[in-house]
Amino acid sequence: MKNERILISGAGIAGITAAYWLARNGFRPTVVERADTLRKGGQGVDIRDTAIEVAEGMGIMPRVRAAATDVIGMRFVDAAGNQTAGVDMRKARERNASREVEIMRGDLVGILHDHTADQVEYRFGDSIRALEQDAHGVTVTFEHAPAERFDLVIGADGLHSQVRRLAFGPEEALTRHMDHYFAFGNADPALGPDRWVTIHNTPGTLTGIYRSGNHPDAKSYFMFRSPRLPVDLRDPATARTLLSDRFADSTAWNVRPLLDAALADPDLYFDSLAQVRMRDWSTGRIALIGDAAHCASPVSGAGAELALVSAYRMATSLVDADGEHTTAFARYHDAHRPLVTRKQKLGPNLRLMIPKTRPGIAFRNTVTRAAALVG
Ligand SMILES: Cc1cc2nc3c(=O)[nH]c(=O)nc-3n(C[C@H](O)[C@H](O)[C@H](O)COP(=O)(O)OP(=O)(O)OC[C@H]3O[C@@H](n4cnc5c(N)ncnc54)[C@H](O)[C@@H]3O)c2cc1C
Repeated sequence: MKNERILISGAGIAGITAAYWLARNGFRPTVVERADTLRKGGQGVDIRDTAIEVAEGMGIMPRVRAAATDVIGMRFVDAAGNQTAGVDMRKARERNASREVEIMRGDLVGILHDHTADQVEYRFGDSIRALEQDAHGVTVTFEHAPAERFDLVIGADGLHSQVRRLAFGPEEALTRHMDHYFAFGNADPALGPDRWVTIHNTPGTLTGIYRSGNHPDAKSYFMFRSPRLPVDLRDPATARTLLSDRFADSTAWNVRPLLDAALADPDLYFDSLAQVRMRDWSTGRIALIGDAAHCASPVSGAGAELALVSAYRMATSLVDADGEHTTAFARYHDAHRPLVTRKQKLGPNLRLMIPKTRPGIAFRNTVTRAAALVG
Protein backbone atom coordinates (compact mmCIF):
# COMPACT_ATOMS: atom_id res chain seq x y z
CA MET A 1 0.00 0.00 0.00
CA LYS A 2 1.21 3.53 -0.83
CA ASN A 3 1.55 6.48 1.54
CA GLU A 4 1.38 4.61 4.86
CA ARG A 5 2.93 7.29 7.09
CA ILE A 6 0.33 9.97 7.64
CA LEU A 7 0.58 12.96 9.97
CA ILE A 8 -2.70 14.30 11.33
CA SER A 9 -2.70 17.74 12.94
CA GLY A 10 -5.31 18.04 15.74
CA ALA A 11 -6.69 15.53 18.26
CA GLY A 12 -10.32 16.65 18.03
CA ILE A 13 -13.27 14.62 16.79
CA ALA A 14 -12.11 14.70 13.15
CA GLY A 15 -8.43 13.97 13.77
CA ILE A 16 -8.98 11.02 16.12
CA THR A 17 -11.68 9.50 13.91
CA ALA A 18 -9.46 9.67 10.82
CA ALA A 19 -6.60 8.12 12.78
CA TYR A 20 -8.86 5.24 13.86
CA TRP A 21 -9.99 4.33 10.34
CA LEU A 22 -6.50 4.71 8.91
CA ALA A 23 -4.85 2.56 11.60
CA ARG A 24 -7.54 -0.09 11.28
CA ASN A 25 -6.76 -0.40 7.58
CA GLY A 26 -2.99 -0.73 7.73
CA PHE A 27 -1.84 2.91 7.59
CA ARG A 28 0.45 4.36 10.26
CA PRO A 29 -1.10 7.62 11.47
CA THR A 30 0.58 9.98 13.94
CA VAL A 31 -1.54 12.67 15.59
CA VAL A 32 0.12 15.90 16.73
CA GLU A 33 -1.96 18.07 19.11
CA ARG A 34 -0.98 21.57 20.14
CA ALA A 35 -2.53 21.34 23.61
CA ASP A 36 -0.72 19.41 26.35
CA THR A 37 -3.71 17.11 26.87
CA LEU A 38 -6.97 16.32 25.08
CA ARG A 39 -9.20 19.39 24.89
CA LYS A 40 -12.42 18.36 26.56
CA GLY A 41 -14.30 21.66 26.64
CA GLY A 42 -17.62 22.42 24.99
CA GLN A 43 -21.26 21.61 25.43
CA GLY A 44 -23.59 19.08 23.87
CA VAL A 45 -22.87 18.14 20.24
CA ASP A 46 -25.15 16.10 18.01
CA ILE A 47 -24.26 12.86 16.24
CA ARG A 48 -26.79 11.97 13.61
CA ASP A 49 -27.53 9.99 10.44
CA THR A 50 -24.31 8.92 8.65
CA ALA A 51 -22.24 10.02 11.65
CA ILE A 52 -24.08 7.41 13.74
CA GLU A 53 -23.14 4.77 11.18
CA VAL A 54 -19.50 5.90 11.40
CA ALA A 55 -19.57 5.64 15.21
CA GLU A 56 -21.31 2.26 14.99
CA GLY A 57 -18.61 1.03 12.61
CA MET A 58 -16.02 2.08 15.20
CA GLY A 59 -17.84 0.13 17.91
CA ILE A 60 -18.25 3.17 20.19
CA MET A 61 -22.02 3.67 19.93
CA PRO A 62 -22.85 1.79 23.19
CA ARG A 63 -20.50 4.12 25.10
CA VAL A 64 -21.86 7.16 23.26
CA ARG A 65 -25.46 6.23 24.11
CA ALA A 66 -24.50 5.56 27.74
CA ALA A 67 -22.98 9.05 28.00
CA ALA A 68 -25.74 10.83 26.03
CA THR A 69 -27.13 14.01 27.54
CA ASP A 70 -30.72 14.09 28.78
CA VAL A 71 -31.69 17.70 28.20
CA ILE A 72 -35.48 18.22 28.05
CA GLY A 73 -35.59 21.45 26.09
CA MET A 74 -34.83 25.12 25.80
CA ARG A 75 -36.41 28.03 27.69
CA PHE A 76 -36.06 31.77 27.24
CA VAL A 77 -36.15 34.07 30.28
CA ASP A 78 -36.46 37.84 30.75
CA ALA A 79 -34.21 40.07 32.85
CA ALA A 80 -36.03 39.02 36.03
CA GLY A 81 -35.58 35.32 35.20
CA ASN A 82 -39.24 34.70 34.32
CA GLN A 83 -39.82 32.27 31.46
CA THR A 84 -41.14 34.00 28.32
CA ALA A 85 -41.18 30.99 25.99
CA GLY A 86 -39.91 27.43 25.86
CA VAL A 87 -39.68 24.31 23.75
CA ASP A 88 -39.96 20.83 25.22
CA MET A 89 -37.87 18.62 22.93
CA ARG A 90 -38.55 15.26 24.57
CA LYS A 91 -41.02 13.98 21.97
CA ALA A 92 -38.79 14.99 19.08
CA ARG A 93 -35.82 13.31 20.75
CA GLU A 94 -37.79 10.09 21.29
CA ARG A 95 -38.91 10.13 17.65
CA ASN A 96 -35.34 10.64 16.44
CA ALA A 97 -33.60 8.42 19.00
CA SER A 98 -32.35 5.93 16.43
CA ARG A 99 -30.84 8.62 14.21
CA GLU A 100 -29.68 11.34 16.62
CA VAL A 101 -27.77 11.41 19.92
CA GLU A 102 -26.50 14.41 21.86
CA ILE A 103 -23.32 13.98 23.89
CA MET A 104 -21.01 16.43 25.64
CA ARG A 105 -18.15 17.21 23.29
CA GLY A 106 -15.56 16.34 25.95
CA ASP A 107 -17.16 12.93 26.57
CA LEU A 108 -17.05 12.14 22.86
CA VAL A 109 -13.42 13.20 22.47
CA GLY A 110 -12.55 11.08 25.54
CA ILE A 111 -14.33 8.01 24.16
CA LEU A 112 -12.64 8.39 20.77
CA HIS A 113 -9.22 8.79 22.34
CA ASP A 114 -9.63 5.76 24.67
CA HIS A 115 -10.68 3.72 21.68
CA THR A 116 -7.57 4.56 19.67
CA ALA A 117 -4.86 5.05 22.30
CA ASP A 118 -3.15 1.70 21.66
CA GLN A 119 -3.27 1.87 17.85
CA VAL A 120 -2.34 5.48 17.18
CA GLU A 121 0.74 7.49 18.12
CA TYR A 122 -0.30 10.74 19.84
CA ARG A 123 2.12 13.61 20.34
CA PHE A 124 0.73 16.28 22.65
CA GLY A 125 2.17 19.75 23.20
CA ASP A 126 3.55 20.27 19.69
CA SER A 127 2.43 21.86 16.45
CA ILE A 128 3.48 22.03 12.81
CA ARG A 129 5.58 25.06 11.99
CA ALA A 130 6.30 24.49 8.27
CA LEU A 131 5.34 22.10 5.48
CA GLU A 132 7.33 21.46 2.34
CA GLN A 133 6.01 18.92 -0.12
CA ASP A 134 7.59 17.31 -3.17
CA ALA A 135 6.69 14.41 -5.44
CA HIS A 136 7.51 11.79 -2.79
CA GLY A 137 6.37 13.18 0.54
CA VAL A 138 6.12 16.10 2.93
CA THR A 139 8.90 17.44 5.14
CA VAL A 140 7.30 18.66 8.37
CA THR A 141 9.02 21.10 10.70
CA PHE A 142 7.58 21.12 14.23
CA GLU A 143 7.64 23.77 16.93
CA HIS A 144 9.51 21.39 19.26
CA ALA A 145 10.31 17.97 17.77
CA PRO A 146 12.95 17.57 15.03
CA ALA A 147 11.77 17.77 11.39
CA GLU A 148 10.39 14.55 9.92
CA ARG A 149 9.19 13.15 6.58
CA PHE A 150 5.63 11.91 6.15
CA ASP A 151 3.88 10.55 3.06
CA LEU A 152 0.74 12.66 3.59
CA VAL A 153 -0.47 15.38 6.00
CA ILE A 154 -4.08 15.81 7.09
CA GLY A 155 -5.18 19.03 8.76
CA ALA A 156 -7.83 18.36 11.43
CA ASP A 157 -6.84 21.36 13.50
CA GLY A 158 -10.11 23.24 13.60
CA LEU A 159 -11.43 26.60 12.50
CA HIS A 160 -8.04 28.32 12.80
CA SER A 161 -6.15 25.46 11.15
CA GLN A 162 -2.40 25.86 10.92
CA VAL A 163 -2.23 23.29 8.11
CA ARG A 164 -4.77 25.29 6.10
CA ARG A 165 -2.81 28.51 6.62
CA LEU A 166 0.49 26.90 5.59
CA ALA A 167 -0.83 24.97 2.58
CA PHE A 168 -3.76 27.05 1.31
CA GLY A 169 -3.16 30.63 2.46
CA PRO A 170 -4.36 33.20 5.00
CA GLU A 171 -7.45 32.51 7.08
CA GLU A 172 -9.24 35.75 6.16
CA ALA A 173 -9.55 34.71 2.52
CA LEU A 174 -11.01 31.29 3.35
CA THR A 175 -13.35 32.03 6.25
CA ARG A 176 -16.58 33.99 6.39
CA HIS A 177 -17.10 35.88 9.64
CA MET A 178 -20.75 35.72 10.65
CA ASP A 179 -20.91 38.91 12.71
CA HIS A 180 -20.83 37.22 16.12
CA TYR A 181 -18.40 35.96 18.75
CA PHE A 182 -19.22 33.22 21.24
CA ALA A 183 -17.81 31.59 24.37
CA PHE A 184 -18.38 28.39 26.34
CA GLY A 185 -17.31 28.10 29.97
CA ASN A 186 -18.00 26.29 33.23
CA ALA A 187 -21.03 27.38 35.24
CA ASP A 188 -22.53 26.92 38.69
CA PRO A 189 -25.35 24.36 38.15
CA ALA A 190 -27.48 26.16 40.75
CA LEU A 191 -27.98 28.99 38.21
CA GLY A 192 -30.28 27.03 35.87
CA PRO A 193 -32.91 24.29 36.19
CA ASP A 194 -31.80 20.71 35.78
CA ARG A 195 -32.07 19.25 32.25
CA TRP A 196 -32.88 22.57 30.58
CA VAL A 197 -31.02 25.01 28.40
CA THR A 198 -31.95 28.47 29.70
CA ILE A 199 -31.30 31.56 27.63
CA HIS A 200 -31.54 35.30 28.20
CA ASN A 201 -31.30 37.71 25.26
CA THR A 202 -30.77 41.41 24.91
CA PRO A 203 -30.64 42.84 21.38
CA GLY A 204 -27.54 41.29 19.82
CA THR A 205 -26.47 39.27 22.89
CA LEU A 206 -27.22 35.87 24.34
CA THR A 207 -26.31 34.43 27.73
CA GLY A 208 -27.23 30.85 28.56
CA ILE A 209 -26.74 27.91 30.87
CA TYR A 210 -26.77 24.30 29.75
CA ARG A 211 -27.54 21.55 32.30
CA SER A 212 -27.70 17.87 31.49
CA GLY A 213 -29.14 15.79 34.34
CA ASN A 214 -26.51 13.05 34.10
CA HIS A 215 -23.61 15.50 34.50
CA PRO A 216 -22.89 17.16 37.85
CA ASP A 217 -21.53 20.33 36.28
CA ALA A 218 -23.07 22.94 33.99
CA LYS A 219 -21.86 25.00 31.04
CA SER A 220 -22.50 28.63 30.25
CA TYR A 221 -22.55 30.21 26.88
CA PHE A 222 -22.33 33.71 25.59
CA MET A 223 -22.76 35.29 22.17
CA PHE A 224 -22.60 38.84 20.96
CA ARG A 225 -22.86 40.63 17.63
CA SER A 226 -19.69 42.23 16.35
CA PRO A 227 -17.90 42.76 13.08
CA ARG A 228 -14.60 40.93 12.69
CA LEU A 229 -12.15 42.32 15.27
CA PRO A 230 -8.42 42.64 14.62
CA VAL A 231 -7.44 40.47 17.61
CA ASP A 232 -5.60 37.19 18.20
CA LEU A 233 -8.34 34.83 19.38
CA ARG A 234 -5.80 32.28 20.60
CA ASP A 235 -4.70 34.69 23.30
CA PRO A 236 -6.78 33.80 26.41
CA ALA A 237 -6.35 37.28 27.93
CA THR A 238 -7.82 38.93 24.81
CA ALA A 239 -10.80 36.58 24.87
CA ARG A 240 -11.49 37.34 28.54
CA THR A 241 -11.28 41.09 27.98
CA LEU A 242 -13.68 41.00 25.02
CA LEU A 243 -16.20 38.89 26.92
CA SER A 244 -15.93 40.93 30.07
CA ASP A 245 -16.26 44.27 28.20
CA ARG A 246 -19.45 43.05 26.60
CA PHE A 247 -21.28 41.52 29.59
CA ALA A 248 -19.79 42.86 32.83
CA ASP A 249 -22.30 45.72 33.17
CA SER A 250 -25.33 43.46 32.97
CA THR A 251 -27.56 43.23 36.02
CA ALA A 252 -30.13 41.01 34.25
CA TRP A 253 -31.01 37.45 35.32
CA ASN A 254 -27.85 35.42 36.19
CA VAL A 255 -25.60 37.04 33.62
CA ARG A 256 -23.04 38.35 36.10
CA PRO A 257 -22.40 35.12 38.08
CA LEU A 258 -22.32 33.14 34.82
CA LEU A 259 -19.76 35.58 33.45
CA ASP A 260 -17.60 35.43 36.58
CA ALA A 261 -17.45 31.61 36.47
CA ALA A 262 -16.69 31.59 32.74
CA LEU A 263 -13.87 34.11 33.17
CA ALA A 264 -12.42 31.93 35.94
CA ASP A 265 -12.57 28.76 33.79
CA PRO A 266 -8.99 27.91 32.69
CA ASP A 267 -10.41 26.13 29.59
CA LEU A 268 -12.75 28.96 28.54
CA TYR A 269 -13.47 28.54 24.81
CA PHE A 270 -13.85 31.78 22.89
CA ASP A 271 -14.10 32.15 19.13
CA SER A 272 -15.62 34.01 16.24
CA LEU A 273 -18.72 32.58 14.65
CA ALA A 274 -17.41 31.74 11.22
CA GLN A 275 -17.66 29.34 8.34
CA VAL A 276 -14.79 27.97 6.30
CA ARG A 277 -15.56 28.19 2.59
CA MET A 278 -13.04 26.46 0.31
CA ARG A 279 -13.30 25.22 -3.25
CA ASP A 280 -10.74 22.41 -2.71
CA TRP A 281 -9.81 20.55 0.47
CA SER A 282 -6.53 19.20 -0.80
CA THR A 283 -3.38 20.38 -2.47
CA GLY A 284 -0.88 17.74 -3.49
CA ARG A 285 -0.16 15.53 -0.47
CA ILE A 286 -1.94 17.75 2.06
CA ALA A 287 -5.68 17.63 2.79
CA LEU A 288 -8.17 19.01 5.30
CA ILE A 289 -11.07 17.47 7.26
CA GLY A 290 -13.55 18.66 9.90
CA ASP A 291 -13.74 22.32 10.88
CA ALA A 292 -10.38 22.99 9.22
CA ALA A 293 -11.96 22.16 5.84
CA HIS A 294 -15.55 23.29 6.19
CA CYS A 295 -16.52 24.62 9.62
CA ALA A 296 -20.26 25.31 9.49
CA SER A 297 -20.21 27.09 12.92
CA PRO A 298 -21.78 25.93 16.22
CA VAL A 299 -25.07 27.50 15.11
CA SER A 300 -25.35 24.76 12.45
CA GLY A 301 -25.43 22.06 15.14
CA ALA A 302 -23.51 19.94 12.65
CA GLY A 303 -19.83 20.30 13.67
CA ALA A 304 -19.44 16.84 15.23
CA GLU A 305 -21.47 15.17 12.49
CA LEU A 306 -19.36 16.75 9.74
CA ALA A 307 -16.15 15.94 11.63
CA LEU A 308 -16.99 12.23 11.98
CA VAL A 309 -18.25 11.85 8.43
CA SER A 310 -15.43 13.79 6.76
CA ALA A 311 -12.79 11.82 8.69
CA TYR A 312 -14.41 8.53 7.72
CA ARG A 313 -14.78 9.52 4.06
CA MET A 314 -11.21 10.77 3.85
CA ALA A 315 -9.79 7.60 5.45
CA THR A 316 -11.90 5.14 3.49
CA SER A 317 -11.15 6.97 0.22
CA LEU A 318 -7.46 6.37 0.93
CA VAL A 319 -8.12 2.72 1.77
CA ASP A 320 -10.18 2.17 -1.39
CA ALA A 321 -7.50 3.85 -3.53
CA ASP A 322 -4.78 1.69 -1.93
CA GLY A 323 -3.18 4.87 -0.57
CA GLU A 324 -3.01 6.68 -3.93
CA HIS A 325 -3.71 10.18 -2.67
CA THR A 326 -4.71 12.00 -5.85
CA THR A 327 -7.56 9.59 -6.54
CA ALA A 328 -8.49 9.35 -2.86
CA PHE A 329 -8.64 13.10 -2.23
CA ALA A 330 -10.80 13.63 -5.33
CA ARG A 331 -13.22 10.87 -4.22
CA TYR A 332 -13.37 12.29 -0.69
CA HIS A 333 -14.22 15.69 -2.09
CA ASP A 334 -16.97 14.42 -4.42
CA ALA A 335 -18.55 12.21 -1.77
CA HIS A 336 -18.50 14.81 0.99
CA ARG A 337 -19.27 18.13 -0.71
CA PRO A 338 -23.11 17.75 -0.89
CA LEU A 339 -23.42 17.22 2.89
CA VAL A 340 -21.24 20.25 3.61
CA THR A 341 -23.23 22.46 1.24
CA ARG A 342 -26.44 21.42 3.00
CA LYS A 343 -25.12 21.93 6.53
CA GLN A 344 -23.59 25.34 5.80
CA LYS A 345 -27.03 26.71 4.95
CA LEU A 346 -28.07 27.94 8.36
CA GLY A 347 -31.60 29.13 7.71
CA PRO A 348 -33.13 31.23 10.49
CA ASN A 349 -31.17 29.59 13.38
CA LEU A 350 -29.01 32.58 14.16
CA ARG A 351 -31.84 35.15 13.96
CA LEU A 352 -33.96 33.04 16.33
CA MET A 353 -31.16 32.42 18.83
CA ILE A 354 -29.95 36.00 18.99
CA PRO A 355 -32.39 38.57 17.60
CA LYS A 356 -31.00 41.99 16.78
CA THR A 357 -33.79 44.10 18.31
CA ARG A 358 -36.32 44.04 21.17
CA PRO A 359 -39.24 43.51 18.76
CA GLY A 360 -37.18 40.68 17.27
CA ILE A 361 -36.90 39.03 20.70
CA ALA A 362 -40.65 39.44 21.29
CA PHE A 363 -41.41 37.98 17.85
CA ARG A 364 -39.12 34.98 18.49
CA ASN A 365 -40.85 34.34 21.82
CA THR A 366 -44.28 34.50 20.19
CA VAL A 367 -43.21 32.10 17.44
CA THR A 368 -41.71 29.74 20.03
CA ARG A 369 -44.90 29.76 22.15
CA ALA A 370 -47.00 29.09 19.05
CA ALA A 371 -44.69 26.25 17.99
CA ALA A 372 -44.91 24.75 21.50
CA LEU A 373 -48.73 24.93 21.35
CA VAL A 374 -48.91 22.99 18.10
CA GLY A 375 -46.28 20.53 19.34
C1 LIG B 1 -12.39 23.14 23.32
C2 LIG B 1 -13.45 23.13 22.26
C3 LIG B 1 -14.78 23.29 22.63
C4 LIG B 1 -15.79 23.27 21.66
N1 LIG B 1 -17.09 23.39 22.06
C5 LIG B 1 -18.08 23.28 21.16
C6 LIG B 1 -19.46 23.31 21.55
O1 LIG B 1 -19.78 23.41 22.72
N2 LIG B 1 -20.42 23.24 20.60
C7 LIG B 1 -20.09 23.14 19.28
O2 LIG B 1 -21.00 23.08 18.45
N3 LIG B 1 -18.80 23.09 18.88
C8 LIG B 1 -17.80 23.16 19.78
N4 LIG B 1 -16.48 23.12 19.37
C9 LIG B 1 -16.21 22.94 17.93
C10 LIG B 1 -16.48 21.50 17.56
O3 LIG B 1 -15.67 20.64 18.30
C11 LIG B 1 -16.23 21.32 16.09
O4 LIG B 1 -17.12 22.14 15.35
C12 LIG B 1 -16.45 19.94 15.54
O5 LIG B 1 -16.48 18.95 16.48
C13 LIG B 1 -15.36 19.66 14.50
O6 LIG B 1 -14.27 19.08 15.14
P1 LIG B 1 -12.80 19.16 14.61
O7 LIG B 1 -12.12 17.95 15.16
O8 LIG B 1 -12.77 19.40 13.15
O9 LIG B 1 -12.23 20.50 15.26
P2 LIG B 1 -11.98 20.90 16.77
O10 LIG B 1 -12.97 20.28 17.67
O11 LIG B 1 -11.85 22.38 16.79
O12 LIG B 1 -10.56 20.23 17.12
C14 LIG B 1 -9.34 20.72 16.58
C15 LIG B 1 -8.18 20.20 17.43
O13 LIG B 1 -6.98 20.66 16.83
C16 LIG B 1 -6.15 21.22 17.83
N5 LIG B 1 -5.29 22.23 17.19
C17 LIG B 1 -5.60 23.50 16.87
N6 LIG B 1 -4.53 24.09 16.31
C18 LIG B 1 -3.54 23.16 16.27
C19 LIG B 1 -2.21 23.17 15.80
N7 LIG B 1 -1.65 24.28 15.26
N8 LIG B 1 -1.48 22.04 15.91
C20 LIG B 1 -2.01 20.91 16.46
N9 LIG B 1 -3.27 20.87 16.95
C21 LIG B 1 -4.02 21.97 16.84
C22 LIG B 1 -7.11 21.80 18.84
O14 LIG B 1 -6.49 21.97 20.11
C23 LIG B 1 -8.20 20.72 18.86
O15 LIG B 1 -7.89 19.69 19.75
C24 LIG B 1 -15.46 23.14 20.29
C25 LIG B 1 -14.11 22.97 19.91
C26 LIG B 1 -13.11 22.97 20.87
C27 LIG B 1 -11.66 22.78 20.44
